[in-house]
Amino acid sequence: MKHLKSMTLPEMQSILKELNQPAFRAKQVYTWLHKGVRSYEEMTNLPKNLRDVLAEKFPICPPEVVRKQESARDGTIKYLWRLSDGNCVETVLMRYHYGNTVCISTEVGCAMGCAFCASTLGGLVRRLEPYEMVDQVLFTQVDSGQPISHIVLMGIGEPLDNFDNVMRFLELINSPDGMNISMRHISLSTCGLVPKIDELAKRKLQLTLSVSLHAPSDQIRNTIMPVNKAYPSEELLEACRRYYAATNRRISFEYAMIDGVNDTEEAARLLLKRLKGLPAHMNLIPLNHVEESPLKPSPRKAVLRFQQILEEGGVPATVRRTLGGDIDASCGQLRRKYTKESD
Ligand code: SAH
Repeated sequence: MKHLKSMTLPEMQSILKELNQPAFRAKQVYTWLHKGVRSYEEMTNLPKNLRDVLAEKFPICPPEVVRKQESARDGTIKYLWRLSDGNCVETVLMRYHYGNTVCISTEVGCAMGCAFCASTLGGLVRRLEPYEMVDQVLFTQVDSGQPISHIVLMGIGEPLDNFDNVMRFLELINSPDGMNISMRHISLSTCGLVPKIDELAKRKLQLTLSVSLHAPSDQIRNTIMPVNKAYPSEELLEACRRYYAATNRRISFEYAMIDGVNDTEEAARLLLKRLKGLPAHMNLIPLNHVEESPLKPSPRKAVLRFQQILEEGGVPATVRRTLGGDIDASCGQLRRKYTKESD
């Protein structure tokens, strides 16, 4: 089925032209759709017969809220949405001092198999369509009443494994007639699909690329991230260097601190060596414990020592504040719980 909300304005213009509509109609429809209307009936400045034709040809199919959990501590809201085919994905709204940020999913499930991540436990079910990513931003804004200014592609799925749809999503969400969210307010996180990082570099987008590194060596990375066998860390870091050369955008690395696995002083020093000459920012994330996994978060002391070594070596490192700890807010945990309950 074709979805109007996955189309760019010029594409929508040609559809409406085929329906013998005047040129200005496309923009009206585009604007309504990207405001988050749930039906064509709400498009009050459109003739009734056009609304009927569009409803018949291009159903809107908005997602339904299955679960909504609000953190009593920090106002984080986690949504579990049911998509029109019955699959579920999660979106998290976080309140930061610089603006409201949504963390969206790009796939139903994930094929990447990282040992610490709940999203990948049931494998990849399917990739999301562009409108399904737009809808997560839109309906989070509509339901919560909070204006969204920032987006991170760090929910369920591997964004670069759904490359074309994610690129289209970025174009749509950035468009002045839509949500108009600045590229500089968007972060895209990848586990390290090297050829796709090169492809992304060619587009020279102003977004922030986050790379899930999580280890200073292949020896360690191989044990927690299967993707490292396809694209070993040296190739990944080389791709990061090329990305920086092409875009001039500093790369942000994610590093989940796992007790006894990647959190030693030796690991921090090796990491410094390997990042030499690459402008980077390290995001240290205390591991969120996933029930099915034996991996445990590093003690606070080890995290702070790790951070100190990086900082002293000239790599800025922040310890990510954990938000929504009381509401299963990390990567795929809510969907996982729900799927298990309904089995
Ligand atoms: N597939 C993409 C984006 C989704 S995950 C990627 O791999 O980057 C967003 C971030 O959360 C990634 O850095 C991921 O490795 C990390 N993550 C996943 N599970 C986690 C957990 N249990 N604790 C801490 N970070 C986790």
